[in-house]
Amino acid sequence: MIDPKNYFEAGLILHGHKCPAMPMGLRAGAAAMNKLGVERSKDSQLLALLELGEDHYATCFADGIQAITGCTFGKGNIKKLHYGKWGMTLIDTQSGKAVRVCPKADAMLSNKKTEFFSKYRKKGIPASEVPEDVVNPLIERIMNSPEEMILNMGEIFDYAVPKKLHSFSGFVCDHCGEMVVESYGRPMQDEKVCLPCYEKATRK
Ligand SMILES: [Zn+2]
Ligand SMILES: [Zn+2]
Repeated sequence: MIDPKNYFEAGLILHGHKCPAMPMGLRAGAAAMNKLGVERSKDSQLLALLELGEDHYATCFADGIQAITGCTFGKGNIKKLHYGKWGMTLIDTQSGKAVRVCPKADAMLSNKKTEFFSKYRKKGIPASEVPEDVVNPLIERIMNSPEEMILNMGEIFDYAVPKKLHSFSGFVCDHCGEMVVESYGRPMQDEKVCLPCYEKATRK
């Protein structure tokens, strides 16, 4: 069993400030992992599909998911679906089993009704400048509430995992001299260049 409390400190270091959304990501990630019976993703064993968009509140949720599941930007096994929602589908790429978990609307709404939002975040005050006595109770509540109070868990379903191999081939751009992944290169007369150099040379 994955215990989200064991990942709180690591999550906080990765994320940078105290807020309720990162811990919600820890809880959602742990719930999905425990439902699937999987370990943290050392390589690309897990794939996380987040329904988050850009530029809206509580995108911090994604950092909790990254910290606990090991699905990271660097490994490329976390994707955003841009629905502007907080659902997360976790896929075990080995077994092809998946589960969707989503924070309950009530839990999200009660966070929004707190001073953390009304007195600070909505007035443009960064989360790192919110006093501890305002943010700590929110974190405590998210970390300690029973799963069924804060999360809706779906049933396990089959997911057709796309078979993709990492590319290891690259070349040196004839214009800028920087490394480029082979398949991203552009032929230009008898040269091979990167995309920015191609655009620069063909922009007139
Ligand atoms: Zn945050
Ligand atoms: Zn170049």
